[in-house]
Amino acid sequence: MSKDKVVKTDEEWREQLTPEQYRVVRQKGTERPFTGRLYYLQRKGTYRCVACGNELFSSETKFDAGCGWPSFWEPISEEKVDRELDTGHGMVRAEVVCERCGAHLGHVFEDGPEPTGLRYCINSVSLRFVGEDGQEIEG
Ligand code: FE
Repeated sequence: MSKDKVVKTDEEWREQLTPEQYRVVRQKGTERPFTGRLYYLQRKGTYRCVACGNELFSSETKFDAGCGWPSFWEPISEEKVDRELDTGHGMVRAEVVCERCGAHLGHVFEDGPEPTGLRYCINSVSLRFVGEDGQEIEG
């Protein structure tokens, strides 16, 4: 556990986040595929946790998996995310959460491209893109 863990009450998260952000990151929801603002984005920059600002993914590792959600083949570092077993919806999947605040981000699958072979399938709405030019886009 890192020193800078972000812990807030459910009420505080509800106040801070939009209803859709809250549904996805705090209630483990999934946005409809092909609807996220960041799905087709190809600009250079960093994808941060929308809830706490933790730097999660680089545009350098983003790829189009054709699945309708932003996909990355690795996080900026392994310490940025935690994996948890998700047995919901009749499937066994590895859930990906923000290490700092516990936000639900998406899932990781083992059908990604080289060099890792992993596909971090991430809800656009759980991310905030910060471009190299400083411009920010909320997913
Ligand atoms: Fe976070």
